[in-house]
Amino acid sequence: MRAAVLEAYGEPLRIESIPRPDPDAHGVVVDVEACGVCRSDWHSWMGHGEWADDQVPIGQVLGHEPAGVVADVGERVETLAPGDRVAVPFNLGDGSCSQCVSGHGNVCEDGYALGFKEAAPGAFAEAVHVPHADYNAVSLPDDVGFEEMAALGCRYVTAFHALAHRVDVDAGDWVAVHGCGGLGLAAVQVASALGAGVVAVDVRDDPLAFAVDVGATETVDASDTDDVPGAIETLTDGGAHVSIDALGRAETCRNSVESLRSRGDHVQLGLTTDAERGEVSLPIDAMTRWDVSFHGSRGMPPTRYDELLRTLEAGRLDPGALVSNRVALEDVSDRLAAMTEYDTSGIEVVTEF
Ligand SMILES: [Zn+2]
Ligand SMILES: [Zn+2]
Repeated sequence: MRAAVLEAYGEPLRIESIPRPDPDAHGVVVDVEACGVCRSDWHSWMGHGEWADDQVPIGQVLGHEPAGVVADVGERVETLAPGDRVAVPFNLGDGSCSQCVSGHGNVCEDGYALGFKEAAPGAFAEAVHVPHADYNAVSLPDDVGFEEMAALGCRYVTAFHALAHRVDVDAGDWVAVHGCGGLGLAAVQVASALGAGVVAVDVRDDPLAFAVDVGATETVDASDTDDVPGAIETLTDGGAHVSIDALGRAETCRNSVESLRSRGDHVQLGLTTDAERGEVSLPIDAMTRWDVSFHGSRGMPPTRYDELLRTLEAGRLDPGALVSNRVALEDVSDRLAAMTEYDTSGIEVVTEF
């Protein structure tokens, strides 16, 4: 089968013919119909992450936001059958450790990330293997398209988990979103659906306009604003209740923390670049003084997808509205290179394999 393989950091992925996977006893093989291209792929492609012992190995098949159709089923799989339409969370759990059984499979003790580890080749390929598939694969309603399903693989569920589970967003709260790439736009849409007013922050016109289309009530153009936290404090009459760094740079992380009102919650979603190497200095005395909380958040437990699916079925969320571009497997390298220049907008999805 065809797959896009990481041959050297920062160099074009090579389209190779590799063996199609066979399902292990608890796994399924999914024919990939769509797979999002995400900034996490870009981090992998750039070779980031060695500072957290998280560098993707050379030879990896990238791609971690797949949606598709179950093709082959392992003999111990109980709940899935060929033909089932599924999305696959990138945060694969074993379904049996103390975190998984208590509902926190996104931080499984034995978990690993699809498309980032040698043991879990990714979905920039015609087919992808899903381990512990009864636990990890999420069956989806017939009326959700594959492109929408791909948007559910990582960025959209990460935004939903952050805002619906990690912090408590109430109707009427102000939520600030720093960085309006695919993840940030998903956060804007989810926060708006939860009843919050949303301030979207970016340095580019198109993503800010996109943010307004999906629910932002206010925007701050950080390219011509010296004091972003001050601008947010003014717009929200005292600061955001919840603020998200959806980009992962020192400036956006710090701006996010500083744009909170007393007792506010910051949620870190963006991973840092090689400029920060996982470290950002923060005003911890002020955070202490004002009861400000800092949360990390990653993915979403597969066992909580039903909440998201109900909001989709009720028509209150529309991840398909974030899909801005459909590309072929050969185009992935170009789209990753475009991310280096922050020259993408919305969620781009591979639909031709
Ligand atoms: Zn587990
Ligand atoms: Zn992703």
